[in-house]
Amino acid sequence: MPDTLLARFLRYVKINTVSTPEAATSPSTPGQWVLLRLLADELRALGAADVSLDDNGYLLATVPATSDKPGVPVVALLAHVDTAPDFNSDQVKPIVHRKWNGKPIVLPDDKRQVIDPARFPTLASAKGHDIVTASGLTLLGGDDKAGIAIIMSLAAHLLAHPELKHGLIRLCFNPDEEVASGVDKLNLDTLGANVAYTLDGDNPGEVVWETFSADSAVVTIEGVSTHPGDAKKSGMVNALHLAARLLVALPRDNISPETTDLREGYIHPSRLEGGVDRTVIKFILRDHDLAELRAKGARLKGLCAGMQAAEPRAKITCTFVEQYRNMGDWLKKDMTPVNLAYDAVRAIGLEPTSPATRGGTDGSRLTEMGLPTPNLFAGYHNPHGPLEWAVVQEMEQSLQMCLALVQLWEQKGVGYKGRPLKKRRAAQPRK
Ligand SMILES: [Zn+2]
Repeated sequence: MPDTLLARFLRYVKINTVSTPEAATSPSTPGQWVLLRLLADELRALGAADVSLDDNGYLLATVPATSDKPGVPVVALLAHVDTAPDFNSDQVKPIVHRKWNGKPIVLPDDKRQVIDPARFPTLASAKGHDIVTASGLTLLGGDDKAGIAIIMSLAAHLLAHPELKHGLIRLCFNPDEEVASGVDKLNLDTLGANVAYTLDGDNPGEVVWETFSADSAVVTIEGVSTHPGDAKKSGMVNALHLAARLLVALPRDNISPETTDLREGYIHPSRLEGGVDRTVIKFILRDHDLAELRAKGARLKGLCAGMQAAEPRAKITCTFVEQYRNMGDWLKKDMTPVNLAYDAVRAIGLEPTSPATRGGTDGSRLTEMGLPTPNLFAGYHNPHGPLEWAVVQEMEQSLQMCLALVQLWEQKGVGYKGRPLKKRRAAQPRK
């Protein structure tokens, strides 16, 4: 029996690849190695070239070019092997609901968990299709094992059909996307691609090329701690009160995540820790527009400065760390990777859409690092919890889109520059 996309998907989701932000290793958890090694074996069995799994858990492989045309860009396809630490991922039991009848899906191992099409319009539109869910006790892990199954099926198809004309294709399976270190240790010269795509989006037809730009901030408030009994005399300054004042001063109605949508950014206090003597508040700041992001940072800094002036006995510091940037700021300069993805979506009979993502992807970082990397749909929905599902037909559509995409790059992509290649990869002999 041939290895189908669905069979691959079911095989991969059963492996617990949860990542953790608390580990210093890469990958952050041993479960990711299990899937990475399985994929490496499968790639070798398929006949992929250059299969390499490095010490940090980056699995790379090549589908050699079938086209003699000079100047066809090298396209990389990426998916992440880890799943989110937000919900249990131990012993995922995937269930295939064949030709789903459109009724709410009650998950058998916890009947309170119901995937209801009335609540999720994108599910309603999948009536009659084959839906995969978990059993109620775990997430499914379609994010991003749908992407992995699609890329593996693409490789299998291309390696079995050398008559399909395409340039050299690089495959990359990386760890730890969900804990924001998915591309930290990825060597772009070793990857050796001019352009890349992540297969890590949900709705059919989506080509995402705009993400948030993101900073984090830490506000540290040092108060003056004394015995409460003689606090008045001794000049107690309670850092907790100052922290509360700072949070109240941030309007919730238009710049917090709970009250914003679409292209509105926010300042989000995500953690508060401390006591009288010292209180630390962590923030994340998000906006699609870099100038707006900077304005939000200035606003937070201004509030801290105002508080410092009002209470000189305290010491208030506010520091920022750049997290990632909107890939659109780079892609707008040359939209070829987006336009060819649009063509590929149309080639499978869908109309492309490009919502501005309210988050980041591995592609945000890669694009900023010089490798243009839009995100493509992979057919999973509502990830990171028990009510996640994937649609088999949408994964198939994504596979067909990728097949069209690599051939479109051969037909129309010659001359595109993207990220320059090191000689070694450019001179890679064809097999
Ligand atoms: Zn993902």
